[in-house]
Amino acid sequence: MLAKHAAPGDMHAERGRFIPDANGRDRSRLPDKVLPRARYVCCCANCDRLFESSRRDRVTCSGACRVSAHRNGLLKALRELANTLDLPLHELLQMQATSQLCPQLFEQIGEGTRELDDLARQETRRAFAKSVPANGTA
Ligand SMILES: [Zn+2]
Repeated sequence: MLAKHAAPGDMHAERGRFIPDANGRDRSRLPDKVLPRARYVCCCANCDRLFESSRRDRVTCSGACRVSAHRNGLLKALRELANTLDLPLHELLQMQATSQLCPQLFEQIGEGTRELDDLARQETRRAFAKSVPANGTA
């Protein structure tokens, strides 16, 4: 259902459907399917499930997993691990998702020939969309 007050470029108006932005960019020319901007594929810190989020810093797939990861100490342990790697936790978990979905890309990032930038994230999202169609949207 489309929200009444949907603004151009509003990603939350309808899940998974892009509303053309104010610049009128033709998103339909994108290869594969239309991918809304700024969505991140991440590995849940609690249940290891892959999920997609519009929030860059999300580290769990659901509220239940967030509470659980807090209580069982997983969040704390993972944050310590991320600190030793000098990475924010959400990037560590996004890298984990990339390693599962795009092993080659992950290898290139490890070798330093690529970075986990917007292009790499988009590649990961495409792989995610192919692996679990219509699932994992958060
Ligand atoms: Zn989870």
